[in-house]
Amino acid sequence: MQLTVLGSGAGLPSKKRNTQSYILDAIDESNQYILIDAGEALQHQILHTNIKPSKIKNIFITHMHGDHIYGLPGFLSSRAHQGGENLPLTIYGPKGLKEWLKVTFEISCSRLNYPLNIIEVEHNTQIEIDKFKVDVHLLDHTIDSYLYVFREENKKGALNTEKLKEIGIKPGPIYADIKNSSVFEYEGISYNTEDFIGPEIKGRKISIHGDTRIVSDSEYLSLIDSSDLIVHEATYLDNENEKAHQYFHSEISGVLNNFNDISYGHLLLSHLSNRYEEEFLLRLDGELPPNVYLAHDFFQLPILHNSQGSK
Ligand SMILES: [Zn+2]
Ligand SMILES: [Zn+2]
Repeated sequence: MQLTVLGSGAGLPSKKRNTQSYILDAIDESNQYILIDAGEALQHQILHTNIKPSKIKNIFITHMHGDHIYGLPGFLSSRAHQGGENLPLTIYGPKGLKEWLKVTFEISCSRLNYPLNIIEVEHNTQIEIDKFKVDVHLLDHTIDSYLYVFREENKKGALNTEKLKEIGIKPGPIYADIKNSSVFEYEGISYNTEDFIGPEIKGRKISIHGDTRIVSDSEYLSLIDSSDLIVHEATYLDNENEKAHQYFHSEISGVLNNFNDISYGHLLLSHLSNRYEEEFLLRLDGELPPNVYLAHDFFQLPILHNSQGSK
């Protein structure tokens, strides 16, 4: 599993940074890409990657500001012509999403040739998609803006091959049969498979925020605690905490302080304003802890179990 940034900028696009979009590559886990937000020019950004639009099966929209959604109608219209015909797609997002898309498609006479399911989310609910549970949590922005916490299913532990060898079973296709059984027999003796399976492998947890002020209540912090990856906005980067609060955004030192008492594998700071020079951003990135990154377009980050990063 890995995260690809398709848009790391805030508000206005620049030559270097597109507006907000992320791809959670879960091809190995559930044969799909999950798209989070759909900033303008999303289709163009996808063209620079190997991502197949037809493999995007679920989209999560954090909030209805243009820098997070203006690429959505174009992407949805084109998907059918990019191998997506008849392949269903579900979009989750705030109230208003359904009406906005309906009006846009009606007035532009756009017709999709695949089933589109639009589900408007609410605070403190959980969504189930293939191999993931997704918690929905309302943040603090000028309009309803959501955090999505993707929790991968736990996986069965590894087969203890040493133990199997001890009872005389040599490696071969039989190992796969044993792993998929609950009991197995060898030389007339019956065994419980669970005695030969290691501890369950904990699923990964990825917390992706929409635009927000710093939120520091304990319910929120415990929801994102122990994430393998957190994506959070840092629209302000230069000791501008007050300004960030005033405009319902976050400042980098505020985000880092807020997460002091929780654990996480990686923290990706994004939604970076284009008023900062790239040189300043590069220098700042170098000063951050090794598992904290400033996003840039097409940045890719593997999401490992209990990952601790290094640059
Ligand atoms: Zn934004
Ligand atoms: Zn916003």
